[in-house]
Amino acid sequence: MVPPKMTESYRGRIAPSPTGYLHLGHALTFWTAQERARSRGGALVLRIEDLDAGRCRPEFRAAIVEDLQWFGIEWQEGPDVGGPCAPYVQSRRDYLPVWRRLRDAGLIYPCACSRRDVQSALSAPHGEEQPEGDEPVYPGTCRRRLAEARESESPAGVNWRFRVPDGEEVRFKDGRAGELSAVAGRDFGDFIVWRKDNIPSYQLAVVADDAAMKITEVVRGEDLLKSTFRQMLLYRALGVAEPAWHHCPLVRDPEGRRLAKRHQPLSLNDLRKSGADPARLKAEGLPPPS
Ligand code: GLU
Repeated sequence: MVPPKMTESYRGRIAPSPTGYLHLGHALTFWTAQERARSRGGALVLRIEDLDAGRCRPEFRAAIVEDLQWFGIEWQEGPDVGGPCAPYVQSRRDYLPVWRRLRDAGLIYPCACSRRDVQSALSAPHGEEQPEGDEPVYPGTCRRRLAEARESESPAGVNWRFRVPDGEEVRFKDGRAGELSAVAGRDFGDFIVWRKDNIPSYQLAVVADDAAMKITEVVRGEDLLKSTFRQMLLYRALGVAEPAWHHCPLVRDPEGRRLAKRHQPLSLNDLRKSGADPARLKAEGLPPPS
């Protein structure tokens, strides 16, 4: 795979989903992204990931922008910089060309299995809040449909999965954690790239956008680590150079639980409304960006 060119200027991004208020974990990640972009004289892009209309709400989107500004995060491209700026709101972008490229490459197939089918085939535990884009290892039931995929004009009405190269080790050097690897087909399976409600999955949309926006380094929480391996396979399939990767530690509450959007007391929105001081939060409430 071709590494990003050293002469290219640094471009980072922050990519929140307006499915709830941001919490201190997001704050640490976005602060880290900002520091890394600044120290390299680069730019930071804000992209609103609002494809899942059922889970996203306009009031969360407005709060995200205000809370980020309150916390001192500044972006050079994205919503509210230079007008409505359509390119940086996912629901306004077109992902079909990427679906077509994967279809033409013979790497995706329609899958009729429901979430329940997959879970019962695996007797996988459910109920826990899963990171964006995570899913159980798919048992491959519909793989035989790879051949019929090329005939499809549109992805609508059925889930589409990317066929992973079983047994292949995928590796990368994380900017914080060093060398990491996972085995396709064992640690993660054929994953959804297009959903039957006719929207691209998180995996496809994020790769399409990071590539189109020429992002040179992705900084995000380590709950998305497994998605990085999936996304590396998409970069490879699309013949696009992948960015560098930097995964930030997760922030936990005083009981040691990972922060989730439903733990409101530690939301940036609540902290802002209760008069908290962002400088003090940075000095005392969070580990320094690393
Ligand atoms: N939108 C994703 C989230 O809020 C993050 C995407 C990413 O950084 O790749 O969890």
